[in-house]
Amino acid sequence: MPRTGSCDAERYEVLKREVAAVGLIRRGSLVRRLVVCGKPNCCCQADPPRLHVPYYQWTRKLHGKTLTVRVNKVEAKLLAKWIANGRRLTKIVAQLERISLRLTERQLRELSKP
Ligand SMILES: [Zn+2]
Repeated sequence: MPRTGSCDAERYEVLKREVAAVGLIRRGSLVRRLVVCGKPNCCCQADPPRLHVPYYQWTRKLHGKTLTVRVNKVEAKLLAKWIANGRRLTKIVAQLERISLRLTERQLRELSKP
């Protein structure tokens, strides 16, 4: 089915409501790391190794530099949610741009009609 103007306009409104519902956002990414303590004969040095309690790092680029912050499990859970929200927002905005381009092209074409 070809995309009609009204179909795009409806989709655009739906996406705008989705933006409003996104919630808090954070950029960057989260990594889970397991600790190797370095003590000889520790279980983390065994084969296979049993690593210690995991920790989490939130990483993002800022002015071309990579910023890394260590966070605990509770903070990591929140960050994961905010990062997912940020990625969702990026996706929605990209869709808004694509649809808006079509809608504005259509309006410009209407104007140029005799
Ligand atoms: Zn160890």
